[in-house]
Amino acid sequence: MDTASVRAHKIGSLLFCPTCGTLLSLPKDEEDTVTCEQCGHVEPASSYEDIEITTRSHPDAFPSALRQKRKTQTKRHEGGDQGTLVSEKCPACGHLSAYSKEMQLRSADEGSTIFYTCASCKHGWRVNN
Ligand SMILES: [Zn+2]
Ligand SMILES: [Zn+2]
Repeated sequence: MDTASVRAHKIGSLLFCPTCGTLLSLPKDEEDTVTCEQCGHVEPASSYEDIEITTRSHPDAFPSALRQKRKTQTKRHEGGDQGTLVSEKCPACGHLSAYSKEMQLRSADEGSTIFYTCASCKHGWRVNN
């Protein structure tokens, strides 16, 4: 067991796994190690602290930037979930475009169900194929 002496490769402010070369993710706030998703190599979070010092960034700037990045990713995921905009008449308000989403709710031989959400009034309905 001598993994502690193997340190990640640094390129700019990025760290790469010394074993398989995978880009390592940033350590979580409360954790002091980072585990490589590919090979399971454990990198001490102190490797990242070295980078902070050498890249002259303010210590407080690092965690807040990380938090902002996470927030943005979560938002983007939720926003992209409403489906594809198609020409479909809303039975509630008569609007001619709606978001459609196909879902396989029943068994495969029964086909799928398409969910529509009106782009105007947000009324939702579904059509069985
Ligand atoms: Zn690795
Ligand atoms: Zn509508």
